[in-house]
Amino acid sequence: MINRREIEILIAALETLDAGYGDMPDFNPEFDVDRVLDVVVETAARMQDNYPYYHPQYAGQMLKPPHPVARLAYALSLWVNPNNHALDGGRASSTMEKECIVELGRMFGWDGPLGHLAGGGTMANLEALWVAGRLHPGKRVIASDQAHYTHGRITEVLGIPFTPVPTDACGRMRVDEVGRLLDAGDVATVVVTIGNTGLGAIDPVTEIVRLRETHEFRIHADAAYGGYFGLCSTLDAESRAQYGALTHVDSIVIDPHKHGLQPYGCGCILFRDPSVGALYKHGSPYTYFSSADLHLGEISLECSRPGASAVALWATQRLLPLDRNGEFAQGLDKSLRAARTFWHDLHNSSSFTSLMPPELDIVVYAVNAPTTSQASARAREVFGKAASRELHLALIELPVDLVRHYAPRIDADSETITCLRSVLMKPEHEEWLERLTALLEASAQ
Ligand SMILES: *Cc1c(COP(=O)(O)O)cnc(C)c1O
Repeated sequence: MINRREIEILIAALETLDAGYGDMPDFNPEFDVDRVLDVVVETAARMQDNYPYYHPQYAGQMLKPPHPVARLAYALSLWVNPNNHALDGGRASSTMEKECIVELGRMFGWDGPLGHLAGGGTMANLEALWVAGRLHPGKRVIASDQAHYTHGRITEVLGIPFTPVPTDACGRMRVDEVGRLLDAGDVATVVVTIGNTGLGAIDPVTEIVRLRETHEFRIHADAAYGGYFGLCSTLDAESRAQYGALTHVDSIVIDPHKHGLQPYGCGCILFRDPSVGALYKHGSPYTYFSSADLHLGEISLECSRPGASAVALWATQRLLPLDRNGEFAQGLDKSLRAARTFWHDLHNSSSFTSLMPPELDIVVYAVNAPTTSQASARAREVFGKAASRELHLALIELPVDLVRHYAPRIDADSETITCLRSVLMKPEHEEWLERLTALLEASAQ
């Protein structure tokens, strides 16, 4: 049942907010309470048509509910409705955003980066590649063939040449291929992915950084999905080293709306060297007049942006600071453990073949069958049967060669194979795992 106590907290907070405007003459625009009630209740009925994203039996796509503190702070801010473009439109929320950026930067070992929140990882990556393109016009961007599709598309929008780099059997970008492309001479930017969207694999940042001893290039880290896991205590040594190497990259994208417990509409871009802010310089005659302090609109491609996102993130970081092994990190550790246990369960199952062991909390698995096309059909069947038992999974289309690395006896009669994919983003997934596995096995019978 949806927790109604949250509303009591919101009412208490609104009273404090209200007191801040105590000197204003009373003004409350009228609205028709009965009609609004009818429409909002009708809206609630329409909203019933969704998968139960909040529930541990939703173990499919990257969907994680916001923390109540984020939901409440977001809602609270809407009574002011700040805009984090110019300070005139959102003074308090702009300051909160700047404080969030300092803390996010610190998480990656950066002292005072330039950065801001964005609509999501796509917009944040767009800014990173736009800056890369402005610094190195006409030069190429490369990213792994398992990188988010947005990199190929953004470079197309920006008119930047782009090349995908092959990955190994773990889904990580191949360093020898990166070296080969760098030798060809026109690559200015290498995108490393910290937790790719399909497989959760982490690109070898340490080795890419080492290539800078012999080649000159920018490194952009797309940590939209995996950025927060650097706080965890249960990472294996190799993954830990990749997070350590992030202090050397030039820009980082992280999505608070993925693993940062935020409502959608909250991505973030960070630049290690704040001087790239000069590239954003524009002359808007009507925006920045109230203060000589930095207006976030001066360093962002988006103009109007929700102050609500900053308010929600600030409140969340206040409650759950981004401390190594702190309470927030422990929640992520539970997801890591759930994914490892799930992988082992599948490894011992006669119905499934688990692919690479999970580096983060994403597990990909094939359904056993004699041929790849039969395995694909079986995966779709299990997906449907599981859904009818209220276990919600996701599907992923993978190259046959990748799957045959883990299931060498399967006959390849297709180029790709449909596999099942579970993103175990919720800390509760750990306790619910036994039940999830039982439902999954029953769906495969
Ligand atoms: C989700 C994701 C993106 C895209 O971010 P949006 O917030 O969906 O716009 C980019 N890169 C990676 C690695 C992602 O996981």
